[in-house]
Amino acid sequence: MLRTKPCVEMTFQQADGVPGSGRRALRAWSARQPCCSRSAISQVTDGRFMCTGCGTWYSASHSGSVLGCARSVRPVGIDVQVDCHRPAAMRAVAKICGLDHGTITHWTIVEAMLKATGQVGGVPEPGSYLLPEIVPGCGTVHLPGTGAVSVVTGVWAMTRVAIAVLEATAEQSWRPSCAEVG
Ligand SMILES: [Zn+2]
Repeated sequence: MLRTKPCVEMTFQQADGVPGSGRRALRAWSARQPCCSRSAISQVTDGRFMCTGCGTWYSASHSGSVLGCARSVRPVGIDVQVDCHRPAAMRAVAKICGLDHGTITHWTIVEAMLKATGQVGGVPEPGSYLLPEIVPGCGTVHLPGTGAVSVVTGVWAMTRVAIAVLEATAEQSWRPSCAEVG
């Protein structure tokens, strides 16, 4: 079970990736387990998904045959990635995270943070998402101008998962906040 603070609900399923599958999965989830009595998912201008009934934030990600969804009262981003050999992408991730070597876990964290902050498709500046070389299961990253982002990482069906949630209060650096996630 993955847990974050503030609370995030998440669901995973095996699914083929076709355009719009994330959005459809979010709508199916909100119909099956509504966040409120007027549950309706819409996409806001920065690409993030939100329930117009109660303001709950939603996010979806697909990789390989895994589709992950997350929702929270705070802006949330989820990223799933199957392990793959992409040296150029790992070098780019390393620069963003201020590291010698990037990993798939770093990549999922960066993608989840881009989604949580409404910057999908953006390319962060080198050193803008400073992460430790070894990423523990949970931690907090401070983004200048944005504040603190809680991150939790784990694995579902052999697929890397990262979930990022904007916190209401600011933190100054990465701080491990739990020992084990799985
Ligand atoms: Zn709602």
